[in-house]
Amino acid sequence: MRVHHLNAGTMRIPGAPIVSHVLLAESGDGLVLVDSGFGLAETRDRSLLGPVRHVMRPSFDEAETAVRQIQALGLDPADVRHVVLSHADLDHAGGIADFPHARVHLTAAEADAVLRPRWFERRRYRASQWSHGPDVVAHPPGPLEWYGFTGVTEILPGILLVPLPGHTRGHAGVAVRVSDDAAAPERWILHAGDAFNHHAYLTGARVPFLFWCHQTFVTDDGALARTQHARLARLFATHGDTVEVVCAHDPALLLAPAGARRGPHR
Ligand SMILES: [Zn+2]
Repeated sequence: MRVHHLNAGTMRIPGAPIVSHVLLAESGDGLVLVDSGFGLAETRDRSLLGPVRHVMRPSFDEAETAVRQIQALGLDPADVRHVVLSHADLDHAGGIADFPHARVHLTAAEADAVLRPRWFERRRYRASQWSHGPDVVAHPPGPLEWYGFTGVTEILPGILLVPLPGHTRGHAGVAVRVSDDAAAPERWILHAGDAFNHHAYLTGARVPFLFWCHQTFVTDDGALARTQHARLARLFATHGDTVEVVCAHDPALLLAPAGARRGPHR
């Protein structure tokens, strides 16, 4: 499956400029977008993001939206049949309204958080991003196991929803199988959303302070989030040659050539 790595929303946070890394997969069932960054609506009305925009400082650049980048690739946004969200934070679900005919997949726990947000969740999810009435598919934990991760659901052939709760209560990673040929070595990309935000979480190096703050304080369950850091570091160390692990906000993981995103061969 051919996969494009796009930045659907630079955020100019002082001292820690970050990206909104989304995947565009050319699947047998049309185009599949993994996370959607910010959308056209926010570039036209910045107030839709609320006061948090003054902290996140998005670029509000229409050319960075997924819909415009898909057009720039010579593809048709109407062919986007599925959007799979790692979670529903405003910097991940902003683009869903630009694909009104796509089904929007997320975990059942995350869909419930959007529908019935607690106090803190009311500040991270934006009702405006869901007001077009998308066709939401809420996935309960599935029956599959994938590289030691359980509760996994196959949404489409070669596209898996991998529960990684902690950052939000229904947070998940999205695994995309890159190798189509069953006889060829398996190759995957795991988009881990905000389950981590800097490659140092994978390698054990020192995490820059502002990235640590985001992982520590913008989280639903800190202990669970730390569990996911450890599981992803283990995956990177043991299967990094097979599974390329990326996250939403680390510019280094977006810009690095694919080979550099893979972990050590074991
Ligand atoms: Zn985020």
